[in-house]
Amino acid sequence: MEISSEKTFKNSPLSRRDFLKGTAVVPLLSLAASQSAEAAESKLTAAISNKAAKILIVGAGTGGIDAAARLRRAAPKAKITVVAPNDVHLYQSGQVFVAAGLYTQADNRRDTSKLIPDGVEWLQDRVTAFDPDHNSIMTEKKGEIPYDVLVVAAGAEHDFASIEGLSIDDFGRNGIASVYLNDIDSGKVAGGEQVRQWFEQIAQAAQAKEQTILFTIPQGDVKAENATLDILMLGLEILRGKGPGQGPDVSDRISLTLAVGNDHLIASKAFDAAVQKILRKEKRLKILFDTQLKQVDPAKKTATLQDKNGESSLRYDFLHVAPPIKAPDPVASSKLALAEGVRKGFVEVDPVTLQHKRYPNVFALGDVAALPAKSGAATRDMAIVIQDNVANALEGRKLSTRYTGYTAAPFKPRFGREMLIEYDRKGPSPTFPLDPTVPRWIWWEVDLHLLRWVYFDLIMHGML
Ligand SMILES: Cc1cc2nc3c(=O)[nH]c(=O)nc-3n(C[C@H](O)[C@H](O)[C@H](O)COP(=O)(O)OP(=O)(O)OC[C@H]3O[C@@H](n4cnc5c(N)ncnc54)[C@H](O)[C@@H]3O)c2cc1C
Repeated sequence: MEISSEKTFKNSPLSRRDFLKGTAVVPLLSLAASQSAEAAESKLTAAISNKAAKILIVGAGTGGIDAAARLRRAAPKAKITVVAPNDVHLYQSGQVFVAAGLYTQADNRRDTSKLIPDGVEWLQDRVTAFDPDHNSIMTEKKGEIPYDVLVVAAGAEHDFASIEGLSIDDFGRNGIASVYLNDIDSGKVAGGEQVRQWFEQIAQAAQAKEQTILFTIPQGDVKAENATLDILMLGLEILRGKGPGQGPDVSDRISLTLAVGNDHLIASKAFDAAVQKILRKEKRLKILFDTQLKQVDPAKKTATLQDKNGESSLRYDFLHVAPPIKAPDPVASSKLALAEGVRKGFVEVDPVTLQHKRYPNVFALGDVAALPAKSGAATRDMAIVIQDNVANALEGRKLSTRYTGYTAAPFKPRFGREMLIEYDRKGPSPTFPLDPTVPRWIWWEVDLHLLRWVYFDLIMHGML
């Protein structure tokens, strides 16, 4: 980790002392400056309800824990129960830094029991069905549980199986990897470590002969838009011998294809243009838009790509796959789910209030909501909205706090530089008054050294 910091500071007009002074105020600045949850008088607790209601929260990931901490304060007399099976809570954003060789897997894990807020009950169980007509859920162990208010934060599942010929067992073998690969239930994170080894294998193989590497991003909403782009660009740095391991430069012995299901990399025009400008400088990289990974033959190392002209076959040596996502089955098969369209199966909430469109005592946040943003940053903003709007709903007041569509995708074009991509429904929404399309060393340092701490010690306590 230190190596990367030193590299960063060598060419920087700011000293390490300036940086440390700066970072000390970052959480405070962001508390004061972020405009994303409009109309919240305070990021901590604005609306209060004193109703002794039963609030059920499904999920103990980013959204479930943040919402539990916030609702504990906003509804002090409520009985709040979190239903989730996972012993371990993962800081999923950190998987990219594991792949880059800068974090270990253990850095991203915490016991769920230590994150459940005081005064909140944790039922270690799995929801099997939702019955919003009777205000209850069914779980594997406890059976039926009634609620007054339900908050769904069950995340999104990685749907690798929807790619023909590809199974979870193929990852880590035959040149196939994905930084996304994780097991939310067990907390085991294979993806970051696998990708780190994958870079080593590519570097080794490229010394013998030229290697073809295929990266794919699915069509539709993409979970963490930055993750594949980070792996691609940091991987190129590693293959140039500029990573922490400092191997030989084999970058002229690889060719890269990035097949993207959508017609963009980032769902915000200004940022998409800025990111594409950086990627297009890479002479050995070909980008194919509107091109979907349909099928993989792991034994033959062949991928079938589909675009508007039909199917084509590409022989690869190494393949990195970003998964299509789907709502967890109990959500998708319930009356809470959106019945049609590209977000079919996800929870049908109002995009501004996060209240269910047909069941007013149901709310959803995070990846499970039928909304385009799929990031921890978006989820944290939604938790602020949930905090106020659930308290207001309990009191029969207007749901005044609005979710603006804010999301973030911290893109890492090289070691020591990060573009702090933040946008909402209206366009770029930078927290800080600096050109957000410029990759800066300070965002890299904040992400690498501070964010994980901010996540576990502040955001997971509903404090930011
Ligand atoms: C590789 C990678 C890199 C990322 N990088 C970034 C980044 O740089 N910036 C960023 O903002 N975001 C990033 N993200 C995205 C971010 O981690 C997620 O968007 C965020 O964690 C979503 O939070 P969530 O609460 O909706 O879901 P999760 O955190 O996934 O939690 C879901 C919870 O629901 C539970 N659950 C599921 N089904 C059931 C059930 N049937 N019953 C009970 N409980 C259930 C699970 O056990 C879990 O506790 C990244 C993600 C990955 C994988």
